[in-house]
Amino acid sequence: MTRMQGRSRSYPDSVTQLIDQLSSLPGIGKRSAERLTFYLLKSSTEQALGLASAIEAVKREIRHCSICSNLTEAEPCSICSDPGRDASKVLLVEQPRDLMTLEETGMYSGVYHVLLGRLDPLDGIGPDSLSVRELLRRVEDPSHNCRGVKVEEVILGLNPDMDGDTTSLYLWEQLQKSDIKVTRLARGLPTGSQIEYANSAVLADAISQRQSL
Ligand SMILES: [Zn+2]
Repeated sequence: MTRMQGRSRSYPDSVTQLIDQLSSLPGIGKRSAERLTFYLLKSSTEQALGLASAIEAVKREIRHCSICSNLTEAEPCSICSDPGRDASKVLLVEQPRDLMTLEETGMYSGVYHVLLGRLDPLDGIGPDSLSVRELLRRVEDPSHNCRGVKVEEVILGLNPDMDGDTTSLYLWEQLQKSDIKVTRLARGLPTGSQIEYANSAVLADAISQRQSL
């Protein structure tokens, strides 16, 4: 540890800064950050600046849809504004990548709500850190849902593990205050599995055979 710190102090400042920035990313340790930095130093100016401008563009152009919290450049997002989607059905997922995986099955024609995580009290993640308020608002008031359509059904599509179940139970309690149907994806998904890694056939079954809560 001390040897590593000593080594990076001897780099020029800008190199040390890049190593520090990269090693602050999830899953990137100091050693990987150094490897990436030297890769970028060796790569063409075009390639390195291409990466820098891609980062700049996502930070400048991408926001969360005000209705479903999915990542979008347009407001509302292309799913929320699509008249071909059934906006009375809202499938709740944890992350944008879960939505992408479910979209790839082509089996779902409703709309989504992206929670942006799940409850984790030990890590200080409560309902206010997630898009729970936005969900309840669109359920209670059609003017906050896609194209002003009334929500009839919320399908809980969180990952089937302990934190996912805890979060589902909390949301189910919150949704009891309104007169909508609450269902969950069928348990074709094995406990502990993650939606983003499930195959299309399993996901298609989980959507079509969803169960009432
Ligand atoms: Zn949206």
